[in-house]
Amino acid sequence: MNNYTLDTRCLQAGYQPANGEPRQLPIIQSTTFKYDSSEDMGKLFDLEASGYFYTRLANPTSDHVADKIANLEGGSAAMLTASGQAASFYSIFNIASCGDHVISCSTIYGGTYNLFAVTMKRMGIDFSFLPPDCSEEELKAAFRPNTKAVFGETIANPALIVFDIERFARAAHAHGVPLIVDNTFATPILCRPFEHGADIVIHSTTKYMDGHGAAVGGCIVDSGRFDWTKYPEKFPGLCTPDASYHGITYTKRFGLEGAYITKAVAQLMRDLGSVQSPQNAFLLNLGLESLHLRMERHSQAALAVAQFLSEQEEVSWVKYPGLPGDSCYALTKKYLPKGASGVVSFGVKGGRKAAEAFMKGLRLASIVTHVADAKTCCLHPASSTHRQMTDEELAAAGVSPDLVRLSIGLEAPEDIIRDIRQALDGIR
Ligand SMILES: *Cc1c(COP(=O)(O)O)cnc(C)c1O
Repeated sequence: MNNYTLDTRCLQAGYQPANGEPRQLPIIQSTTFKYDSSEDMGKLFDLEASGYFYTRLANPTSDHVADKIANLEGGSAAMLTASGQAASFYSIFNIASCGDHVISCSTIYGGTYNLFAVTMKRMGIDFSFLPPDCSEEELKAAFRPNTKAVFGETIANPALIVFDIERFARAAHAHGVPLIVDNTFATPILCRPFEHGADIVIHSTTKYMDGHGAAVGGCIVDSGRFDWTKYPEKFPGLCTPDASYHGITYTKRFGLEGAYITKAVAQLMRDLGSVQSPQNAFLLNLGLESLHLRMERHSQAALAVAQFLSEQEEVSWVKYPGLPGDSCYALTKKYLPKGASGVVSFGVKGGRKAAEAFMKGLRLASIVTHVADAKTCCLHPASSTHRQMTDEELAAAGVSPDLVRLSIGLEAPEDIIRDIRQALDGIR
């Protein structure tokens, strides 16, 4: 498939039916798989034969969809998870344990921040949060002997800061750890983090990949390029035998291409079980079939809305990484040359109150916690997704109290703009 463009691969990568098989990806809605003898099944458990036996560990529908996403990202292996949160958690917990440390960019999704700063902290994993524009000295000083990974979002939700992937990859690699990038807002259509040095990519497939607000899901993709065996003392889980899984050493048995994802499935999915249902994997695949068209349209319409907003006198500021003059514009040109995705944020003059009045006035755009949907939607993070955060934490995450986040859908751009204009009229 790799000699085709990404557009074609959105449709044809992953599932390729043989003669007489269904053209559309079949939903294998079965928890379990039948064998003729316990001997046959024993071979699967001994890893002498490959095959399916229980959907918590592997399912053909989900595997085909994971293969498509691995192909789109240019990775060596991928797995689906029940949600983006599960993908974030597994991506780090697969290589960090109690007593370890991880560096994260501070401009990340609120749910990820909570996961790292509260829940994973309770598990004994310590996180340092660094601003995306931190100095080289700050970045260098953040690494500790027990640091296991660096984490950031290609386009931060909701701060819309573009992550300098190459810079953070260089720093991570200089300290012998991988860079994990949450590529949810960009999708591989707009940015492929592996081409810029990232080692692991994760997604909330709930967003643009599904794209229709239908199914919560996540995905982890491995580039297969990080050489864990160079640092066996740092990554014992990948480089020494796993007593809970046939005494296998993942890097030896599955190579650099397969070790990380196989371990995440065989250990974490087996024990924690955040599995994506075959039905949801099917819905995700339908979304992926039009991802290339949707990302282009979302990006064009969002740029038009951002330009419009920047010309309205009720608007105090506009943040869209694709807007010329935006603080991230140079990084956008470098990492997102095909478009800066569909999310725009802005402030209304009059602060929090005016922001709430504006939202109330919208007719076409609906107030939902969701983003990255085919239908235009709108959110006030300070009073919803980010309400657990202190003012200082909000500022570090790049979220001000007057920030309104608009996720520009696939409706006609002129209708979306008309709706925004009439809602601005209503706050006067
Ligand atoms: C939504 C989101 C997540 C969490 O994903 P869920 O599918 O809601 O669990 C993680 N990262 C980013 C950037 C997101 O937008």
